[in-house]
Amino acid sequence: MTLIDTHAHVASSAFDEDRREVLQRARDAGVSEILCIGDTLDSSRAAIQLAEGESGLWATAGIHPHYAGEADPDFERLLKELLACPRVVAVGEVGLDYHYDFAPREVQQEVFRRQIRIALEAGMPLVIHNRKADEDVIAILQEEEAQQVGGVFHCFWGDQALAEKALELGFYIGVGGPVTFKKSDALRQVLKAIPRERLLVETDAPYLAPVPYRGRRNEPAYVVETAKHLAALLEMELDELADVTTQNARRLFNLA
Ligand SMILES: [Zn+2]
Ligand SMILES: [Zn+2]
Repeated sequence: MTLIDTHAHVASSAFDEDRREVLQRARDAGVSEILCIGDTLDSSRAAIQLAEGESGLWATAGIHPHYAGEADPDFERLLKELLACPRVVAVGEVGLDYHYDFAPREVQQEVFRRQIRIALEAGMPLVIHNRKADEDVIAILQEEEAQQVGGVFHCFWGDQALAEKALELGFYIGVGGPVTFKKSDALRQVLKAIPRERLLVETDAPYLAPVPYRGRRNEPAYVVETAKHLAALLEMELDELADVTTQNARRLFNLA
């Protein structure tokens, strides 16, 4: 069995003490590949550097909505430079976060739009972060014609309507730790109806650890727990689910 953790912040300082062991535990658990996610230009650089030095690691580059307010005025040029690095496979994570509202919404929207345009120019898929901003995320993706590159709604935690719109735009649905939470019945119902060829699994490590690790630091090895829950939900064998989601990740991110 091999799994791909399609969303992990492995370059984060949360792993500075034991990154090597964390990566080894992932391999031992059957997680053959990991997408190291950037959320600022600096963290994107760190993710790329990590991915260049280790086999089985890929990187993304982008500015998370939390940091949209602090984006370098020259960020578009800098981001394009990062996307040219061979281990980079997607633009992200980008999007809107109206739960925390760390940056003014207009600024989040503008930085999101500009990064979609860059993704289109680069021909790269998008890793979307969306929190309490369903309508605006969908509207912006439609207006910017993001279906040309597609991408993933990472750690999907939305309703049926959002799932349908995401699928219509050709996007994939990233399933993370919340599918394992006791109170996630509504989410599980939504996920049950997603076509299998559009599902990905992820951790979002160090955040959102799945049961039975909930509340602890998350790490890529734990994607196995999420995959087990998802397989049970879809009445599939774990290795079948692993095969399908791995193929999906390869297709979306063009992993060689
Ligand atoms: Zn996110
Ligand atoms: Zn993330």
